[in-house]
Amino acid sequence: MLELAGYTNLLVDVDNTIARRDSDEVEEKALRKILNLLDCNRGWKICLVSNIIFGKEREMRVRKIADSMGLPAITAKFFNRKPYPDPFLKGMKILESQPENTAIIGDQVFTDIIGGNRLGLLTVLIKPLGPDHWTTTLMGRRRKEGMILREKGITIEG
Ligand SMILES: [Mg+2]
Repeated sequence: MLELAGYTNLLVDVDNTIARRDSDEVEEKALRKILNLLDCNRGWKICLVSNIIFGKEREMRVRKIADSMGLPAITAKFFNRKPYPDPFLKGMKILESQPENTAIIGDQVFTDIIGGNRLGLLTVLIKPLGPDHWTTTLMGRRRKEGMILREKGITIEG
């Protein structure tokens, strides 16, 4: 369990990690999986960190999800989006955490995982809940992710 390794702070991606892109409801299954990983949620501080491609509506959606969970949220835009450091650092500021006690959980290598690794966080990659935003598909990111994971011999649990 992460807790045993000294991690007590968690940044959590939103799209396809805890909610499908087209939904403003948190998926029970996803939440359970994360709580399992956290070993009953004892003493953890959590902040959501979500990239917003554009639009006030998308931002409001993340706020709504965060409010429903009683958690703070960072919405990251344009040149301050993941994998740039800004949203991670803002989340860590809210949590008052350091890289050595902060983990990030997300579904994308090119945003959540690369950004987290650059700052020295523990990174946890999970399988996406549903279909991607078209920009992710257009960039061929999932195909590239697949190549990287295969090369490293990494498989993701469902
Ligand atoms: Mg995501």
